[in-house]
Amino acid sequence: MEVNNPAIERGSVRGDINLHFSFGAPTLICSVEMPLKFFNTLSRSVQEFVPRDPAGKQVRMYCCGPTVYDVAHIGNFRTFVFADLVRRYFEFKGYAVEHVMNITDVEDKIIKGVRNSKMPLRDFTGKYEGLFFEDFQALGCLRPHHTPRATEFIAEIIALIEKLIARGIAYKAADGSVYFSIEKYQGAGHCYGQLLKLNFEEMRRGERVSNDEYEKESIADFALWKARVADDGDVFWASPWGEGRPGWHIECSAMSMKLLGPSFDVHMGGEDLVFPHHEDEIAQSEGAAAQKQGEHFVNYWLHGAHLLVEGKKMSKSLGNFYTARDLFAKNFSGREIRYLLLTAHYRESFNFTLDGLHGARTALSRIDECLTKLREVAGTATAAADSALLQKFSEALDDDLNISQAWGEVFEWVRETNRLLAGNQLSASQAAAALASWDKINSVLGVGTTSQDADIPAEITGLLEQRQAARKAKDFKRSDAIRDELKAKGWVIEDTPKGPRLKRIS
Ligand code: AMP
Ligand code: ZN
Repeated sequence: MEVNNPAIERGSVRGDINLHFSFGAPTLICSVEMPLKFFNTLSRSVQEFVPRDPAGKQVRMYCCGPTVYDVAHIGNFRTFVFADLVRRYFEFKGYAVEHVMNITDVEDKIIKGVRNSKMPLRDFTGKYEGLFFEDFQALGCLRPHHTPRATEFIAEIIALIEKLIARGIAYKAADGSVYFSIEKYQGAGHCYGQLLKLNFEEMRRGERVSNDEYEKESIADFALWKARVADDGDVFWASPWGEGRPGWHIECSAMSMKLLGPSFDVHMGGEDLVFPHHEDEIAQSEGAAAQKQGEHFVNYWLHGAHLLVEGKKMSKSLGNFYTARDLFAKNFSGREIRYLLLTAHYRESFNFTLDGLHGARTALSRIDECLTKLREVAGTATAAADSALLQKFSEALDDDLNISQAWGEVFEWVRETNRLLAGNQLSASQAAAALASWDKINSVLGVGTTSQDADIPAEITGLLEQRQAARKAKDFKRSDAIRDELKAKGWVIEDTPKGPRLKRIS
């Protein structure tokens, strides 16, 4: 299907992008042309990114957020860490980003959860929303600028449905629910099936689907507003069509367009959201004709591949999931989980294993050790970052976020830095320059520590202090016992000329 994407046309005109790294003085401008490219699900191709902002400075992005009916698993977090990487990388490239991630706090699974828990809706969703943000932060994700809750946008949702009814694209059914008519939408000249090819021959015309989640074999008119039924309990709002609640898809159209405007740059989510959720979002948003002539609702659709377990999608329904909390209880840290989630390219699915997390620990400790040594050599010296390293790093990420190549550059740099450190070949200011480079790289990867013990649990540092006190009192029996206790908890003490240092056992 031919897709008219204005970004494709404009992309060819704008071939002169310079990179502006704006992380404080001195500002670094790379002379080499390095356009940022992404795989856009809308065009099914890798495309140069051109922001809508004529000044080329602002990027507006939306990522579908969590459905707060349970604790999110690390499969969900793979998608949120991916969105965080994209936001951080835009910022690294000097764009001013406006990042929205909604909270889905009313849909079918939530209604079921409210019914089973007998809790009021807000208490039920508030509990899981709170837990979600704790894990989100522990995994190093930057808080989006807006985190709208669907239940706080009911007026906007109703207004959007009214527009669709006024255009003849939505209709009220006998039970008081409102449906989106695919036939009327197509009849008005719109394309249904922009993100994927749909086989309309197999479509059962005239059928309707009221569930929020459905398969593409049953393309059908989908619910925008669901009339109140007994199972909804206290979860309902007044509307021009009677009491009821919104469908899931309309929530994201209403929130994204209210906060970012009728057309914006980037929309993200996991690959399972391509159909029906994102296709329906396009239909609702473009069906309401809020965009300027010839403009899309969204120019770039980015979808992340799934995190798997033994080849199957990690999901609540299969029961094959780990939450971040499950892994914290196994003594893994947020940055180790984040590292693992960031090792594969976003369009590649990969299997989660605990061994993978042990590998993440080993890799991070290599970086940590190098940084610790650099800090010792740098002392109080300061210096500007090394532009050659940053350029290689960003060339990798410009290439549709080639994260393996980016990590390759980082570990090559660690290897070379270690070699120079071992030969005492780095001056204080060279070590400071290396640290400044790492800070910029880490502003994108978000896995670093600012000091060697930022990631050590308080219980462990407390034990180290007790061990030092025992040694001072020459109570070596006690100090050995504490050393053994630390070992049992996964930590070893290395005594260095600068004092004891804690290291995780890989
Ligand atoms: P939900 O809370 O179910 O609405 O999902 C939140 C996000 O997690 C969506 O973008 C999903 O596409 C994504 N997601 C769900 N399962 C996985 C998985 N196994 N791997 C990667 N992303 C996932
Ligand atoms: Zn959404």
